[in-house]
Amino acid sequence: MLLGEPERTQADLCFRLLGIPVRVHPFFWLVAVILGANFIEGPKDLVLWLLAVFTAILVHELGHAVVMRLFGYRPSITLYGLGGYASYDRFWRGSGWGGGAFGQILISAAGPGASLLLAFLIIVGVWVTGHPVRFFWGLPYGFTAVFALGFSEILDQFLLWLTGVLIAWSFLNLLPIYPLDGGQIARELLVWANPRQGILQSLVLSVLVAGAFCAASLVLWKSWFLAILFGYLAFANFMTLQASGGRSSGW
Ligand SMILES: [Zn+2]
Repeated sequence: MLLGEPERTQADLCFRLLGIPVRVHPFFWLVAVILGANFIEGPKDLVLWLLAVFTAILVHELGHAVVMRLFGYRPSITLYGLGGYASYDRFWRGSGWGGGAFGQILISAAGPGASLLLAFLIIVGVWVTGHPVRFFWGLPYGFTAVFALGFSEILDQFLLWLTGVLIAWSFLNLLPIYPLDGGQIARELLVWANPRQGILQSLVLSVLVAGAFCAASLVLWKSWFLAILFGYLAFANFMTLQASGGRSSGW
């Protein structure tokens, strides 16, 4: 959601999942490697990390896409840069209701919902097979669930990273900062409550929350990555707010 549709490249990975076209742009792998650079040690780690990030982000986008299809849209998924997005042709409507504001909220919530559901199922699966589950919350990579598993070294590492990314990505995306999922939900609710000022309010909310998280990233969490991310989101929303000139309509 942070970037527009990227150009097609020779290195794109394209396939269909549940009938939904998926495209993975090479930048997706590049950004994943950069994000894991601090803790990847050797080629085995690299493969496991990429597989974990790919699975986590794909499940998130699949959550959006499946609900889009339920509402009669024809979705497609692109994994690119920082995460990915599920989109549909807004001018095409085959069958179905479309869902209105309610549908848009469900579509936005389905991404984090799918990720958290899978994380929950993994944790329950680990627990019922008699393996110890231990949690701890921390940065730099958002909120991370850590297990003391004891399956095998490879599976332990993969599940640890997979659940970590699933949970961290969900919490990040649920923040009420546009265009993150939480920001889109907040916008739909604010416009519903106040059709004239809702979009303006959602922009102000985005600037305030992103600004606060940017400051916290620098002061509390000492994470440059998160500081730049939230700083960018605060800036982008502030520019949109400026460009709107305080008008309450005309979008
Ligand atoms: Zn999402």
